[in-house]
Amino acid sequence: MKATRIAHSHRLNPGKYRALAEQARRLGRVRCLVWQRHGSVGGAGLSGRLVRDRWLAEGTHRGFGVLANAWKETVRDAMADIAANRAAAKVKVRRAIGRHTSDPAERRRLFTALKAELWAADAYLARQMRRHWRRGRNRTHDQIVVRADQHNTRADARGRLWLAVPGLQQRAMVKIPLRTTFAPTGTLRLILREDRVEIHYQIDAATMNTSRRPCGSATIGVDKGYTEVLTDADGEHHGTGLGTLLTTESDRRKDKGRRRARLRSIANHAAARGEKAKADRILRNNLGTVKKNRRDKAWRARVRTETFAAVHRVVDKAATVVAEDLTKTFAVRKPLGRNVNRRLAAWTKGVTAEALKSVSERRGSALVSVNAAYTSQACHRCSGLGRRNGDRLHCTWCRVVWQADVNAAINIQARAGDSDIALHTPHHRVKQILLERADRHRTRLPVQDSSYHPAAESETSDLLSYEQ
Ligand SMILES: [Zn+2]
Repeated sequence: MKATRIAHSHRLNPGKYRALAEQARRLGRVRCLVWQRHGSVGGAGLSGRLVRDRWLAEGTHRGFGVLANAWKETVRDAMADIAANRAAAKVKVRRAIGRHTSDPAERRRLFTALKAELWAADAYLARQMRRHWRRGRNRTHDQIVVRADQHNTRADARGRLWLAVPGLQQRAMVKIPLRTTFAPTGTLRLILREDRVEIHYQIDAATMNTSRRPCGSATIGVDKGYTEVLTDADGEHHGTGLGTLLTTESDRRKDKGRRRARLRSIANHAAARGEKAKADRILRNNLGTVKKNRRDKAWRARVRTETFAAVHRVVDKAATVVAEDLTKTFAVRKPLGRNVNRRLAAWTKGVTAEALKSVSERRGSALVSVNAAYTSQACHRCSGLGRRNGDRLHCTWCRVVWQADVNAAINIQARAGDSDIALHTPHHRVKQILLERADRHRTRLPVQDSSYHPAAESETSDLLSYEQ
């Protein structure tokens, strides 16, 4: 398993920065061309290498104005981006296949054709891919990919590291002063930010000297939340600082957005009156993005820290973590307008998914994805659908009020061993199964009377249910 590391540079002098930015801009055009030509059906069977050889033969590369290695690496990188874009669509198509047919042989045939990029030949698959694979385009104009053998790192007399990468001319390396004492290795991705460079590179997670703590031994279901990162089936909440981080940030952004809108309107009025200097001043001094980006980045880092710490605490206990399907995207599809909170919450759910995956792989615990349909509405004891009220779930049959997220975590844990409800079982079928179970539960139990105390019978602790 690979982990991404980021090295930061010191501030570059303007000449160096301009040279790198110009190279990144030209490579951005190369990326655009790759997306234009191979970003859809036409690129499905192609490798980066094939595209490269074809462009060399056709002379396409002559207008790029960059060194050969730079554009070749960029083609490879952009083709990998396109493949990732296509893979995301395939996840949805696999789900559609699950709904489309229940015949195992036909399913296997469709899955195989999809995997081997032979979907264009099958009418059903081609239709599904067209539906779910939205044509993308390149938006990256600030990156340079440098192959492992094209860069080197040297320390100067004071021990500062300098990373040398190719510039726009042969044998004219650009030397970047690093803030780290650890030389980046392998293929590098340089991302230009303001007047500095971020250097992203991959290292083998096995050689990492950070947390090699072993995982626990239990099987634990977890539910992702908004006020905390995770709640587990034992009734423990992890990462309880998330709620405050989310609400304060969303309030702050709303407030900031309003202030910026007011200033923008003042600037527009000034420009309309011909006071160009005033308008420019406001745009430059009050409506810039440098500070805003820096602050957003710091906030994201705090959320990541909280999230990863929470996941580590779960893995301290668990050899197997059961969670809702992580391949689902949490991105908000519709524009939510002013609803900053929902947008931020969707983003943090994505971070939780990433942390579960990465921590599990690093510490050797298994991560099991299950179908999470109705896990937050069904009572974990009788399968009946309860009424949700804030953080409480009221089961009308058991007459117990469960803590909603703990109940959901228990349901999620149980789904791992559920032979009727598979990962891609459709939503409506899950509901049907749950209602059938609830009916069976009802007929098995004696008729309720006043001597029936469900809480006393409950196999779970007091933590779980509220006082009646
Ligand atoms: Zn119940």
